[in-house]
Amino acid sequence: MTRGGIQEMSKVNRQEILDILKGYDKEDITIATLGSHSSLHMFQGAKAEGFKTAVVCEKGREVPYKRFNVVDEYIMVDKFSDIVNEDVQQQLRDMNSIVFPHGSFVAYAGLDNVENIFNVPMFGNRDILRWEAERDLERKLMMESGIRIPKKIKDSADIEGTSMVKFPGARGGRGYFVANSTEEYDEKIDTMLKRNWIEDEDIKEAHIEEYVLGCNYCIHYFFSGLKDEVELMGIDSRYESTIDGLVRVPAKDQLDIGAAPSYVITGNHPVVMRESLLPQVFDIGDRITETAKDMVPPGFNGPFCMQTLVNDDLEVVVFEMSARSDGGTNTFMNGSAYSYLYHGEPLSMGRRMALEIKNGIKEDRLEEIIT
Ligand code: AMP
Repeated sequence: MTRGGIQEMSKVNRQEILDILKGYDKEDITIATLGSHSSLHMFQGAKAEGFKTAVVCEKGREVPYKRFNVVDEYIMVDKFSDIVNEDVQQQLRDMNSIVFPHGSFVAYAGLDNVENIFNVPMFGNRDILRWEAERDLERKLMMESGIRIPKKIKDSADIEGTSMVKFPGARGGRGYFVANSTEEYDEKIDTMLKRNWIEDEDIKEAHIEEYVLGCNYCIHYFFSGLKDEVELMGIDSRYESTIDGLVRVPAKDQLDIGAAPSYVITGNHPVVMRESLLPQVFDIGDRITETAKDMVPPGFNGPFCMQTLVNDDLEVVVFEMSARSDGGTNTFMNGSAYSYLYHGEPLSMGRRMALEIKNGIKEDRLEEIIT
């Protein structure tokens, strides 16, 4: 599939983006993003590769950028979502900006706005962001790729083993619960309704899947459109509240507390996998990027993350993906064990992104990696 197939999918006019890009002074590109999530290593990495940097920053949130001194230009806004305002877009274009998307950028700008009205050149594939956000699309892409994912349980009446129950919008693990039987599912739904954590109409939206008993590995990949190859940039493990706090409570007391675990991400640990698992890691990266080329052209472009659990059969089971820079990349501001292997020097995800832009300019192929 040609990389040019983007045009039909996106409502932001591709030709317009390419025209804007054509008008940019390639000697004076600014790397810009919203000041949040994983922007620090993007700014640091961009500066290390010789670019200027600009932050779109909510008033009161500028401290880290100033204290770490990673930003050249500040576009101050009342609220993050103002990044899509026409005057902000114009300031970005005036600085020859290429925007690096990340989780907060997508959340605050809004997926519809990124697809429809954000007329600033972006690194990555703006069409694939929706495939991360909608569980059915995400599942379709993963199933088509043939990677191992948790088995779906169609109806609560079919719950037999330990199962994970998720609600739309409950991402980040708030409001997830585990049920071992249909009875337990019904009881927990009742409790959640009483606590107003869900409403009646949410129940039909419940997504039930196999509970994968295993260790958490979030695999950060980088797909280079220029090289047509997936790179393994790092792996982190999530530090989640309350589940990771709960395991510090003796089993007997856990029962006394009666605490229902939640899975709210509060931080990340760096981790490496046993080496014999790495062929699976590359296989997952290769499969998902190949499939995405056809399903969401041009496919993955730049950073993405597969969130996995590894069970004691040593299967790497993917339960979630991010189609842009993942928050876990912050674990490796100075590069990871894996990114070191490619370059023999510390390399963060942000710097890898900047390097791709630099190579795109050098090879006169920037338009292939911008949407
Ligand atoms: P998510 O919101 O999908 O990133 O999930 C939050 C957390 O829930 C994960 O980091 C896991 O700890 C846990 N989790 C999600 N899906 C499963 C599953 N199928 N089996 C076991 N744990 C899961």
